[in-house]
Amino acid sequence: MKPKKFPAFRTRLGVLFHSIRFRLVMWFTAILAIILCSFSAFLYYTQSRNLQEEAIHEIDRRVTGLVTNVQDALRQGSGQIAIPNGLLRDTDVFILLSPEGQILASQGPIPAQDAIQIVSAGLLAAPRTTESPAIYWTSPTSQNYAFIVTSVQSQVGINFLIIFGGILDPNALVRRFLLTLVAGCLLTLAVALAGGFWLADRAMRPVKTITQAARTIGETDLSRRLNMKSKDELGELANTFDAMLARLQAAFERQRQFVADASHELRTPLTIVNLETSRAIESHRSVQEYQHALSIIHNENNFMTSLVNDLLMLARMDAGQTTIEKTRLDLSDVAVETVERLTPLANRNEVTLEAGNLPETHILGDRQYLLQMLSNLVENAIKYTIGDKKRVRVETGQTDGTAWVRVSDSGPGIAPEHLPHLFDRFYRVDKARTRDTETESDLKSPSGSGLGLSIVQWIAQVHNGEVRVESTLGTGTTFEVRFKTV
Ligand code: ATP
Ligand code: MG
Repeated sequence: MKPKKFPAFRTRLGVLFHSIRFRLVMWFTAILAIILCSFSAFLYYTQSRNLQEEAIHEIDRRVTGLVTNVQDALRQGSGQIAIPNGLLRDTDVFILLSPEGQILASQGPIPAQDAIQIVSAGLLAAPRTTESPAIYWTSPTSQNYAFIVTSVQSQVGINFLIIFGGILDPNALVRRFLLTLVAGCLLTLAVALAGGFWLADRAMRPVKTITQAARTIGETDLSRRLNMKSKDELGELANTFDAMLARLQAAFERQRQFVADASHELRTPLTIVNLETSRAIESHRSVQEYQHALSIIHNENNFMTSLVNDLLMLARMDAGQTTIEKTRLDLSDVAVETVERLTPLANRNEVTLEAGNLPETHILGDRQYLLQMLSNLVENAIKYTIGDKKRVRVETGQTDGTAWVRVSDSGPGIAPEHLPHLFDRFYRVDKARTRDTETESDLKSPSGSGLGLSIVQWIAQVHNGEVRVESTLGTGTTFEVRFKTV
C-alpha cells in the first residue's frame, strides 16, 4: 500500500496547483510583493540618502572643529598638535600632512599610509566637488567611511593638509532599517499568503459543495437540492443549479409518466386481442363467431395503430425532429377539406356535420399539420356528441388581424374542473370509460387515448397560435384556434 502514497500526494499537489484558489492567492501575493518591494526600495533609497547626507554634515561639522584646533596649534607654533578629547572618536581617522607630504600627526584604526592611499585613489577616480565633497570607502569590516580632505593655513601662510575619515552610519541605522523593511515585507507576505489561502478556501467552499452534490446526483436522485442560502455569486450559481435540477426532474417525471401511460394504454388492447384469439382457438366456432372475434381484433389493431402513430408524433415533437413547412394558405380551404374527409364518419355516427361561414382567411402554415389539428377537433366533436339532434359545426373567420377556426358541437359539454387539464397527455374526462368491444366500431362507444388534444395544442403553438375552449354542461363545447393573418 505504501508506494501508492507518493503518487496520491503528487496528484493532490497537482490538483492544488491547478486550483483557482491557488492561482488566485499566488496572483494576489505576487502583486502585493511587487507593490511592497517597490515601496520598500523607494523608502530605503530616500531614507539611506537622507541618513548619508546627515552623516556627511556631521562629519563636516567635526572637520570644521578640527580645523580650528589645528590652526590654533599651528599659530601657537607648538610642535605638538593636541586634539581635545571628545572631538575624535575611536573609529575616526585623522591625518595631518605637511606641505611636503610628511605625516605630522595621525590617529585612528587605519594606518596613515593606507588612508593616504585610499584618499589619493579616490581623488584620482573622481575629483571632489561641492555636491560630493567626500571620498567613500568600505573597510574590510564592512564599515562605510567618508573621507574629507581640507587644508589649514599656518600663520606664515603655509598650507597643511588634513585628512579626516568618519564612519557614515556608526549606529548601523541604514542596515537596521533595511533589515526591518525586509522582515516587514516577508511578514506581510506570509500573512497575506496565509490569509489569502484561508479566504480563498472559505470563498471556494460552496464550489466544493456544488461539485460533490453534482457528483452524487444521478439519474435516479434528481430530488436532491443544494439549498444554499448565500446571496453572493456562488449562491446564485447554486440556485440556478437547483432550478435546472427541478426542470430536469420534472422532465424525467413527465417522461416516466409518459412511458407508464403509453404502456398502460397498450396493455388493454393487447389483452383484448389475446383473450379473443384464445377464445377463438379454444374450440370449434361458427363463422359468425370467428367474424365477430376478427372484427374486435381489427378494432383493437386500429386503436393501437392510431395510438402508436400519436406516440411517435409526440416523441418526434419532443425531440424537435418534425419539419414544419409553412406556406401561405387559406384556412377555410383546410376547414372544407376536413369536413369533406370526416362527413362519412359523422354519417356513421348519425351526426350532422356542417360547414358554417367560411370566408377566405389567409395564414402561414403547414397544410398537413393544420388538417390533422382540425381533424382531431372535429373527430372529438363527433365522438363525444350525444342526444337526438347531434350537430357539429366548423367555421372560420378573422377579426382584427387574427384568423380563427371554430369547431362547436351540441354535445354534453365538459365540466369546468376538467378544462385546465384537457390538453395534458393521456388526459380523459371519463377515466372509467371502457371500450365496448362488443360493438362494431369503437367510435360508437367513444374511446381514445387522450393524446389528440395535446397534439392539437402543439400544432397550434408551432404556428404561433393558441387554442381556447368554452364549454357549458348540457349545451355543448366550442374549440377555437387563433392564428395571425398574413
Ligand atoms: P385521442 O384523441 O387520442 O384518440 P381522446 O379523444 O380521448 O383520445 P383528446 O382528443 O385529447 O383524447 O381529448 C381529451 C378528452 O377531452 C376526451 O377524452 C374527452 O373526454 C374530452 N373531450 C374532447 N373533446 C370533447 C368534446 N368536443 N366534447 C366533450 N368532451 C370532449
Ligand atoms: Mg381526441
